Amino acid sequence: MSLLVVGSVAFDAVETPFGKVDRMLGGAATYFSVAASYFTHVNLVGVVGDDFTAKDASIFHGRRVDTQGLERAPGKTFFWAGRYSENMNERTTLVTELNVFGDFKPVLPAAYQASKFIFLANIHPELQSSVLHQVDGRPKVVALDTMNYWIESTPKELRETLRHTHILMINDAETRQISNEHNLLRAAQHIFKLGPKALVIKRGEYGAMLVYGNQVFSVPAFPLEQVHDPTGAGDTFAGGFMGYLASVGRTGPQELRRAMVYGSVMGSFTVEKFGLDRLRALKRAEILRRARHFSKLTQFTL
Ligand code: AMP
Repeated sequence: MSLLVVGSVAFDAVETPFGKVDRMLGGAATYFSVAASYFTHVNLVGVVGDDFTAKDASIFHGRRVDTQGLERAPGKTFFWAGRYSENMNERTTLVTELNVFGDFKPVLPAAYQASKFIFLANIHPELQSSVLHQVDGRPKVVALDTMNYWIESTPKELRETLRHTHILMINDAETRQISNEHNLLRAAQHIFKLGPKALVIKRGEYGAMLVYGNQVFSVPAFPLEQVHDPTGAGDTFAGGFMGYLASVGRTGPQELRRAMVYGSVMGSFTVEKFGLDRLRALKRAEILRRARHFSKLTQFTL
């Protein structure tokens, strides 16, 4: 089943203890769709400016990413700059220039309107809602990411979007902020009252946790000797997670657990190099090999 994503396609400037890049292709929807395209066909909705060249767009070529919904508007593409701390667990946003994203009104091409699997990447909750309103029928899975900025500045709009969300995929700080609960399990129960049936908490180098009903499932982050750039890890995780679910078309407990592993596998590739460099060159066989490695990593007998 095909998968729809709406979110940023961007240029990023990134500084980590391993180096500095002044301008590289990025954006939540870019990481998401490249990752998910290893599992299924992806329909991309977003906007770029006239500085977005054919070479930039080539990241989507030769993959199962449809860019009919990637609008081109006069002006500059969304720009984000961030710096990571020495241990890379903290990130400071230095610049956010919305540019063409400022006036963006997403329009779903007719071919995307029957989407059953939808990922609303981190953007204004009203834009997330407007995409949902354009979808015909009842989607099977709506997953959503958001950030502190929207939690603080547009709480009402976010609550409305959450009412239509099945899976919320956020980090631990955002989980605590939305729920006003420090304990993540209690936070999950609070979030379930807002609409979502499942919560995926992304915890960087500590892996990710899935809570649904009264069940909990945890995956570690793949142990790597060197992480070069964590940018996009969360969106890549979401791409692996949703890409896998859409590829099997089912969302039972076993599928959700496998989706967590594929999310973690995909995220672990992204952080190995700067920007999209690792994902760009990834082979399907490498994904399967790392997923098998994951299985060994977490196996034990009682
Ligand atoms: P992640 O590291 O998974 O949280 O995502 C990083 C990506 O999100 C970068 O490539 C940025 O271009 C993009 N990004 C950062 N801030 C925003 C924002 N406010 N809205 C949309 N996308 C953003």
